[in-house]
Amino acid sequence: MRALTVRPGVAGSARLEDIPDPPTTDGSVLVRTRAIGVCGTDIEIIDGKYGWPPAGRDRLVLGHESLGVVEDAPDDSGLRPGDLIVGIVRRPDPVPCRFCAAGEWDMCANGRYTERGIKEHDGYCAEHFRIEPAFTVKVDAALGDLGVLLEPASVVAKAWDHAERIGRRSRAWEPRTALVTGAGPIGLLASLMGRQRGLAVHVYDRATSGPKPELVRALGATYHNGDISTLDTLEPDVVIECTGAPSVIAAMLTRSGASGVTCLAGVSSGGSTIDLDIGSVNREMVLENDAIFGSVNANRAHYEMAAHALAQADRGWLTRLISRRVPLDRWQDAMTHQADDVKVVITL
Ligand code: BGC
Repeated sequence: MRALTVRPGVAGSARLEDIPDPPTTDGSVLVRTRAIGVCGTDIEIIDGKYGWPPAGRDRLVLGHESLGVVEDAPDDSGLRPGDLIVGIVRRPDPVPCRFCAAGEWDMCANGRYTERGIKEHDGYCAEHFRIEPAFTVKVDAALGDLGVLLEPASVVAKAWDHAERIGRRSRAWEPRTALVTGAGPIGLLASLMGRQRGLAVHVYDRATSGPKPELVRALGATYHNGDISTLDTLEPDVVIECTGAPSVIAAMLTRSGASGVTCLAGVSSGGSTIDLDIGSVNREMVLENDAIFGSVNANRAHYEMAAHALAQADRGWLTRLISRRVPLDRWQDAMTHQADDVKVVITL
């Protein structure tokens, strides 16, 4: 079967190649792949900056945002041929740590987890993949190909879930305003979930044209760009930082209103230093009971929250989120940024 593989750590090593059928050790469910979403992590992997091959190998099958059709599944799996499914990305560490043992592999404490298409476990960007029934999530047939948005939505569902849990440290917590930085797929899905919670949502991004401002407005949210200090009066209860850009992160550290909760969900690449008055940051955080936390990955509960959020969302809006569909044999086009890209999907 054809698969998109890469040698992690080696820039420019990605290629489409013929590989053997997926091994039964990957799971009892055989899936025909329909679509693979592309995200910043994939670009980092093909640029040689992230990713790990499976033990004893030097190449990794790429792809962690999946959508496929079940071709074969055991009778007791709850799955039937024809079901649309998404594969969960992370697998618990083998120890397992106390988090993985509790099904919260997204919180793995020892770093020995694996991630399909990212860390030591082949991904889903092949004509077929195999998977364990327990790591599949069924997608409502009505959602169809939009189900490929489930994985990025799960990451955002976790960010919201944890922000709300932290917020509830005060019995009087009643969020009204959210600020989301970055209007890429993660920021837009975070904004969708903020609107679904009935919050006034403000989105900050550097784009001045293209589909992003309109996608934000279509949610009933407010779009901002340019000088970040124009957000000074917002006093949001929740901030979800999705850019990973050092200057934006620095500006978000003291952005929330009192008792605010700020989630850092964008991953930066490191290596850039910035002038920061850490004393003032500390003063404001302590005196206002602000909370800042990081959030990565998602466990099954978050995939289910995400499936619910996508089912409630306007299909037309979700359709516009997928700005380009690129067939597998033109995978290089999918990895090359174009001006109006939001979510780019490889189709099989
Ligand atoms: C994926 C997560 C993963 C993270 C770090 C993200 O792109 O969506 O599932 O945990 O990268 O590897």
